[in-house]
Amino acid sequence: MSLNFDVVVIGGGPAGYHAAIRAAQLGLNTAIVEKWLNKENAPAYGGTCLNVGCIPSKALLEASRKFVDTRDHLGDIGIKVKGVTADIPTVIAKKDEVVGNLTKGVQGLLKSNGVTTFEGMAVLRAGRKVAFTAHDGKAEELVAEHVIIATGSVPINIPPCPLTDGLIVDSTGALDFTAVPKRLGVIGAGIIGLELGSVWSRFGSEIVVLEALEGFLPAADKQVGKEAAKQFKKQGMDIRLGTRVTGSEVKGKKVTVTYTDAEGDKKEVFDKVIVAVGRRPYTEGLLAQDSGVSLDDRGFITVSDVCVTEVPGVYAVGDVVRGPMLAHKGMEEGIMVAERIAGQKNLVNYDLVPSVVYTHPEIAWVGKTEQELKAAGVNYQVGSFPMAASGRAMANNDTTGLVKVIADAATDRILGVHIISAHASEMIAEAVIAMEFGASAEDLGLTMFAHPTLSEGLHEAALAVSGHAIHIANRKRKK
Ligand code: FAD
Ligand code: NAD
Repeated sequence: MSLNFDVVVIGGGPAGYHAAIRAAQLGLNTAIVEKWLNKENAPAYGGTCLNVGCIPSKALLEASRKFVDTRDHLGDIGIKVKGVTADIPTVIAKKDEVVGNLTKGVQGLLKSNGVTTFEGMAVLRAGRKVAFTAHDGKAEELVAEHVIIATGSVPINIPPCPLTDGLIVDSTGALDFTAVPKRLGVIGAGIIGLELGSVWSRFGSEIVVLEALEGFLPAADKQVGKEAAKQFKKQGMDIRLGTRVTGSEVKGKKVTVTYTDAEGDKKEVFDKVIVAVGRRPYTEGLLAQDSGVSLDDRGFITVSDVCVTEVPGVYAVGDVVRGPMLAHKGMEEGIMVAERIAGQKNLVNYDLVPSVVYTHPEIAWVGKTEQELKAAGVNYQVGSFPMAASGRAMANNDTTGLVKVIADAATDRILGVHIISAHASEMIAEAVIAMEFGASAEDLGLTMFAHPTLSEGLHEAALAVSGHAIHIANRKRKK
């Protein structure tokens, strides 16, 4: 017997659960299928983000940051502490507790919004039929007016460094070390490499990061990337650019990684290695031969600007489709699709997806970088503000970084905002809101910011576009 729904969502990560909850809120009879099993082999919602991504990594970043602050920086402000140690099993257990609470919270939200949940594997067939197999092997057919695919992504593995017995691990393994590795190799200086490298570096690992590209954080504004590289070096992270990993050998409890750089062949011996070279869309076992849904040459499900696949009534959202692999991008796509199914006309503004690297300092940006604007031949003006001149940053004993606002030279419309500072992840939201409303740098300058806050750095950078910043020496002051 078939079960009929208005909407069936496949995948209960951020993209899928947002789609399901919004569809149910709009009165659609909605089901969600999720196959994730957690460490206890129990079904869990929230996908990569809640189980092994955004949330657990942030829990470890926060714990490790508090550890370093307490040990190394509280003394600066007159608070003396001795004998500070990190109890890694407790850190990991606390992280697991946060994950457990949140994943159960999502399950509760789905239920309270009236979404029918199916725990197991979904296969999409022709005619918007979804073959569901529960974890206990029981099979059912779900038939839907609309199917939303949100099956996410998984880590990329590289042949020279296959995952091995907890010694060579991916990001998931790196969230569960039971002790601090003495020497830790990280392959890839992308967001995961920098965030998880920071976690273990703060807890005491000696870190070597091997990055294939010659440039550091190429997606970030160059000035910000340069400042970030300087800060990570100061923190003891040895980031080696332009390196090609050629092989790895596990002997006993050590891993030897061989690589090539401009000087020739080299090797390093590590206690653990994290492979963090990117993620790929995940569609394994999802599409029956007659599903009609096609993949592009990189394995992403082909969709339009509004996440419609080539099959009428079938949509795809989140990491499994083009665009940045970010939870908030998937969430907004999920909501957009649910609302469009209900007859609304929502769109996602792909020009204003904020990016954040949750290191210390945090790095956050939205809109265009200077290098992108130069390449496009756009005339622009820049206003920068060093956090060293921020009263709040000084009071916080944490003055690293800067805020940079880039505005169109003719219209003053804000084209990009780039921040490297403590709490940049929070400050960037103010820039996104301003840009969503088409604000000029002058508009931000005319807006009142509470004092003393780090956000005043954004206010000052906006004022600096036209030379009006109060707390820096202005060279191009206008009346
Ligand atoms: P996923 O979260 O991958 O969820 C897909 C779900 O679909 C999974 O639960 C899977 O079990 C299920 N599924 C797949 N196939 C089937 C099937 N056939 N049947 C049933 N269920 C199926 N992003 C940020 O924005 N901020 C961050 O700070 C951040 N930190 C990260 C840290 C790490 C270590 C990692 C690995 C990722 C991080 N990300 C972060 C990226 C973020 O996790 C992803 O962008 C996000 O989870 C994508 O959401 P999604 O719903 O598209 O897919
Ligand atoms: P990434 O694409 O950010 O970085 C991968 C890095 O590995 C790149 O710099 C790449 O040049 C390098 N690389 C690739 N192959 C290599 C090789 N063979 N040897 C050495 N270096 C190599 O990918 P990631 O860090 O794995 O993250 C995956 C996804 O998860 C990203 O899309 C990211 O957006 C998302 N994520 C986001 C956050 C966040 O928003 N704070 C945090 C973690 C992950």
